Amino acid sequence: MADFTGKVALVTGAGLGIGQASALAFAAAGARVAVVDIDGPAAARTVEMVEEQGADALLIEADVTSSADVERMIAVTVESLGGLDFAHNNVGNLGTRALIHEYPEDVFESVTRVTQVSMFLCMKYELRHMVQQGAGAIVNTSSVAGVIGLPGESAYVAAKHAVIGLTKTAALEYSDHGIRINAVCPGVIRTPMTEFFLDGDPEAERAAVARHPMGRLGEPAEIADAVVWLCSEEASFVTGHPLVVDGGHLL
Ligand code: NAP
Repeated sequence: MADFTGKVALVTGAGLGIGQASALAFAAAGARVAVVDIDGPAAARTVEMVEEQGADALLIEADVTSSADVERMIAVTVESLGGLDFAHNNVGNLGTRALIHEYPEDVFESVTRVTQVSMFLCMKYELRHMVQQGAGAIVNTSSVAGVIGLPGESAYVAAKHAVIGLTKTAALEYSDHGIRINAVCPGVIRTPMTEFFLDGDPEAERAAVARHPMGRLGEPAEIADAVVWLCSEEASFVTGHPLVVDGGHLL
């Protein structure tokens, strides 16, 4: 098990789902955690859960598509928690389902901003700090949609492929600064976002489960465990890697 005693982790989109599980997993490993979300009350609930585990948490309400917010989120984390050792950049947006010739251009641009540009902004300001300290580990949330095409999801698929491209490029740019940068590619995970899209429809749920040879959806904690491992010393020779955690979906 990773020992992050004395370390500081920052998680974006930490108000619910995978990000919340990641914040809890970093805390369980001993880290102090910056809990970032655009939804302040959701982030506050995660902060409470982290504190119930006996760890320190800092609530930061921020929009990761805003350069000013991202710069502030890093400054506040370093000032209040004493540093930044690990970052899990986790915000993404599915957008809508439509074929390309009917896909609304404004939605395409908004999915790109939330899912792809946010990763660039987060890494830009995280890396400024990590380069100075000469160490760090970053994990960016991609998806199985970052590895394969999915009809009707062009904006999301393009942005999640871009997350892997950004991750590989960043890994090359910062390996000699002692910084490792990886991606995690979840299959369908049982989060509030997934419940929203399944909309209580048992047929949609059966179809989603059927795509996973393990015969079930993933749990947020199973992605969080992969994120913590990628940040840990156990993964000290792993960088630029898109780690697929998908119950066999892509096989
Ligand atoms: P999610 O529904 O994507 O949301 C997580 C949190 O992020 C929410 O609290 C959300 O607030 C917040 N958020 C949205 N936009 C933000 C912004 N601009 N700045 C800061 N916070 C923002 O949660 P999830 O299902 O756990 O997904 C997390 C990540 O995993 C995403 O990148 C997603 O694409 C990826 N992923 C998920 C699955 C899955 O099956 N769930 C599979 C593969 C990959 P609001 O609720 O107010 O929007």
